[in-house]
Amino acid sequence: SFPPEAVPQAPEDPLFGLMRAYKADPSPNKVDLGIGAYRDNNAKPWVLPVVKKADEILRNDPDLNHEYLPIAGLASFTSKASELLLGAESPALAEKRVASVQTISGTGAVHLGALFLAKFYKVHGANRTVYLSNPTWANHNQIFSNVGIPIATYPYFDKQTKGLDIEGMKRALADAPDHSIILLHACAHNPTGVDPTPEQWREIADVMAAKKHFPFFDTAYQGFASGDLDRDAGAIRYFIEKGFELVIAQSFAKNFGLYGERAGCFHFVSSPSPQAAEITTRVASQLAILQRSEISNPPIYGARIASTVLNDEALFEEWKGNLRTMSGRIISMRDALYSKLQELGTPGNWDHIKNQIGMFSFTGLSESQVLKLRDEFHIYMTKNGRISMAGLNTGNVEYFAKAVDKVVR
Ligand code: PLP
Repeated sequence: SFPPEAVPQAPEDPLFGLMRAYKADPSPNKVDLGIGAYRDNNAKPWVLPVVKKADEILRNDPDLNHEYLPIAGLASFTSKASELLLGAESPALAEKRVASVQTISGTGAVHLGALFLAKFYKVHGANRTVYLSNPTWANHNQIFSNVGIPIATYPYFDKQTKGLDIEGMKRALADAPDHSIILLHACAHNPTGVDPTPEQWREIADVMAAKKHFPFFDTAYQGFASGDLDRDAGAIRYFIEKGFELVIAQSFAKNFGLYGERAGCFHFVSSPSPQAAEITTRVASQLAILQRSEISNPPIYGARIASTVLNDEALFEEWKGNLRTMSGRIISMRDALYSKLQELGTPGNWDHIKNQIGMFSFTGLSESQVLKLRDEFHIYMTKNGRISMAGLNTGNVEYFAKAVDKVVR
């Protein structure tokens, strides 16, 4: 049996710990700004109306069964997922340079990509390093370490401007060894809410091309960030257009509200070359082996829901409307929070609340201010000062602004 010292007690996951503390708090004023899940204006989870419709269609299908999916997942889902990212007219798709595998949501896609790179993207038998933005989604660190890929970081968030440290980022990418893996958030960067502008993406791509770096895109918020699916895929499409070979981890948790259904996809895109289609076929064959050993085949229900919507023109249009509802409400909460802080004359510059994009805002509140908000005001957010904007609504935004005002004075 295990000697107890062989298995040290691990700390609780900070985010899920926060969720537990929020649930246990009896205060009627409590506010949950922790986990990145959309809430409606009543602070309730929102089942997208289009998802309800797809659910209805599936339930009324007499031929529906619970058989295994193929190893690579539901083809009607993965093919539309790749079109959604790359654009239906993408030459990469026409030239069969894309291998797509359904995964356990975005986390599973990042993991499958990391596992694939750990096995096949080496230099002299050793794993290459992955460069993560500082800060990044905390799980990136554990996922890459678990498969033995060394981790380094590149500067990303500028504490002074509360915007992008583009010069620091470019410098670090230029200093990294050639052929490094660079993890990029495609849009709505978690946790900062700060994205490069199209011009900055071009500069990043130039440095990465000069260094022959390997882009690993993580996209968990397509359509959720700006409300526009094409715009939120702009960076990925630009890199593919520039001829990069790259991989993409795609989540449908946020944009379909399918969090617990674990619908996601991993894509490998080869550079244009006479061997591209063959390389892609080989990669797909290896991904299938990895997938088989890890999960055998992916879960069916979330993929069915997304596939039903993505393959029906009317439902697809309706989904876009649902996306605009979510992104629109979040943007209106940014405006409301900003206005309240202005009204209160809260010390400091709060422009970043409006300028940041997506699910999160990196407020700039310090750890001690965050803890004060929790202890004195029952407001729950991560220690780094990140708030999930979806936790705000017309009923609590003033309460939150007043609490912030008190703790920063
Ligand atoms: N990547 C980023 C940057 C995220 O923010 C998230 C979710 O918070 C994910 C990936 C994966 O989420 P999921 O596994 O729920 O799709």
